Amino acid sequence: MKERLQKLIAAAGLGSRRQAEEWIAAGRVRLNGRTACLGDKADPRADRIQVDGRELPRSEDKVYLLLHKPAGYVTTLRDPQGRPIVTDLIKNCPARVFPVGRLDAATEGLLLLTNDGELAQRLAHPRHKVDKTYLVKVRGLLSEQARARLASGVTLDDGPTLPADLARVRFTSGNTWFELTLREGRNRQVRRMCEAVGFPVVRLKRLRMGFLELGNLPAGRSRPLSGTEVARLK
Ligand code: URA
Repeated sequence: MKERLQKLIAAAGLGSRRQAEEWIAAGRVRLNGRTACLGDKADPRADRIQVDGRELPRSEDKVYLLLHKPAGYVTTLRDPQGRPIVTDLIKNCPARVFPVGRLDAATEGLLLLTNDGELAQRLAHPRHKVDKTYLVKVRGLLSEQARARLASGVTLDDGPTLPADLARVRFTSGNTWFELTLREGRNRQVRRMCEAVGFPVVRLKRLRMGFLELGNLPAGRSRPLSGTEVARLK
């Protein structure tokens, strides 16, 4: 069945329908080798759609992967600074997957990747509240006062944060390690919260997202989600 190009591009997770319309209008989208026009329709299984020269997957099979992102990889699909991209780590995958939400380049840990654009948009939406637990290492010995401020919420330049849970606080040679669980996902939120209470982050790793756990998956490796995990996500 033919669908409007902007719908197919959004379903592939590259951006919103609105953004896709802008890309079409700007001549960045090609349909079967020619520049696409607003209003064009395509069959995702038969037609070739490219955005900025990159092809949209034709397969309708949905793929869901949990990756242990190493530090140094970016979660965008391109990096002007030429840093490696998380999808470079995905080998032997029949579909072109993309990350759900973001992690900073320096952040490690649990990252979901999928070619299910609708699920990705829903999970990454600020309205979608899911607990995310991070292992945090900060410089200095975290004071009781800083700990209480992190737990009750910190005012950042984009407003106050929700309360957060701290657990497993331990001190090692001038640093503090702890687990921090957030119920919202603002840009660089953990780093900004710790900075705001005077303890800059030196290492950050996402351990859990809702019911999904990083477990002992080695850095740089990914595993497919089980059928049960996929069903729970939806
Ligand atoms: N908070 C941050 O500061 N960075 C991340 O990558 C994720 C959460």
